[in-house]
Amino acid sequence: MADRYLRFTGTAPGRFLTRRLGLPQPAALTRWSAGRPALDGGLRHLTAGRSGLGLAPVLARTGIAPAGSDRAAAVVLDASGVRDVEGLAEVHAALHPVVRSLSASGRVVVLGAPLDPADHHQAAAQQALEGFTRSLGKEIGRGRTVNLVRLTDASAAESTLRFLLSPKSAYVSGQVIEVGTPQEPHESEGALDGDRPLTGRTALVTGGARGIGEAVAETLARDGARVVVLDVPGAEQDARRVADRLGGSALLLDITAADAGARIVEALPDGLDLLVHNAGITRDRRLVNMPAERWIPVLEVNLASVLRTTDALLKAGALKRGGRIVATASIAGLAGNAGQTNYGASKAGIVGLVRSLAPRALAEHGVTVNAVAPGFIETRMTAAVPLFIREAGRRMNSLAQGGLPVDVAETTAWLAHPGSGAVNGQVVRVCGQSLLGA
Ligand code: NAD
Repeated sequence: MADRYLRFTGTAPGRFLTRRLGLPQPAALTRWSAGRPALDGGLRHLTAGRSGLGLAPVLARTGIAPAGSDRAAAVVLDASGVRDVEGLAEVHAALHPVVRSLSASGRVVVLGAPLDPADHHQAAAQQALEGFTRSLGKEIGRGRTVNLVRLTDASAAESTLRFLLSPKSAYVSGQVIEVGTPQEPHESEGALDGDRPLTGRTALVTGGARGIGEAVAETLARDGARVVVLDVPGAEQDARRVADRLGGSALLLDITAADAGARIVEALPDGLDLLVHNAGITRDRRLVNMPAERWIPVLEVNLASVLRTTDALLKAGALKRGGRIVATASIAGLAGNAGQTNYGASKAGIVGLVRSLAPRALAEHGVTVNAVAPGFIETRMTAAVPLFIREAGRRMNSLAQGGLPVDVAETTAWLAHPGSGAVNGQVVRVCGQSLLGA
């Protein structure tokens, strides 16, 4: 699982040699730790066009000090008021002079507005921000990330800005995230326990015994949630180990069982707040060689069981208002992958589920529905990939390295945050801006 190349390029001779050979230069990413909870440096707030967002108080609440004339660790460019090509010139003028001085593992967040169907000049200019953001993400290097947030209400986007402007979003780059207006009265961030915003909430994580699911359980518990680790009976030892460590409980259950939803409801008589559909399997083979025995289980675990349990829990009223569903897609579901017609279909199905259910689940149950779409994450699943394909998967992204399970977990924790009620129907890639799929 270890990325030896990343370690090698972190040494002086490694850096020298790989630079001379024109090889990728991954930078060690700065991730969240209790001792290092924030970015190392100040924030620069820039504006292009005439903005009516009222962003300054929201940025002030993030606690990141304004950058002086020195290096900034983060730049927020408010381009929500850009309505034409002249406005785009202001985007260039604002960012051109500051990009060079952004520190390593720094953040660029561009704020845009929803595309106006009645004004094609505004729509062109706002869509231009997407191409701009993705292109800058591909060239900025040194572990720095660039993301675009489309919003209309700055305070509804506070949890999103906090996430993107922190070390927690180390492997999220090149993303376009839409933040709506909250339909539920959302808890103000100030009223929440800052370090443990999920206090009093119950989270169920499927496939939580190892890999990404284990990291999700750990991160939600760090944020205060009581976690229930669901996994197959065969993974009992691992599931109990994780649950015991986190002060939670284990639920041993094959999620494909027809009565899985009913058994979850029975196990959680007080209901639950966070449902993380993480369990997933692969059975790779090109379609010409793929028997139904390899197709059916992948569609069952990755998609059919997600649909069934979601329906059962919503129908039973087991998901509390203000609740969150986070499903797990994959870049293979967005871009496609040879040998994975079954897996790609199942993960694309998750995207369809999220897009269709999100508005209804919010309107009818007060629950948001989003997905994370991991790229290459260092787990047992990817360690089993043959060496050359594995190495290509690791490097073919803007950060030139694989992500860690905790990167997916931090993204899930942001979506689960009580302040993220206006983030709904999103599929957020955690892929270091993989070259696969836009
Ligand atoms: P993993 O194989 O390490 O862990 C998956 C867990 O799910 C295991 O504990 C397994 O026992 C459990 N599980 C499998 N079938 C189950 C069932 N029927 N009922 C209950 N639990 C079941 O996988 P991972 O790499 O941690 O991946 C987690 C999720 O992320 C999966 O949905 C996977 O498709 C997705 N994903 C992973 C990557 C990656 O690079 N690792 C990339 C994209 C998407």
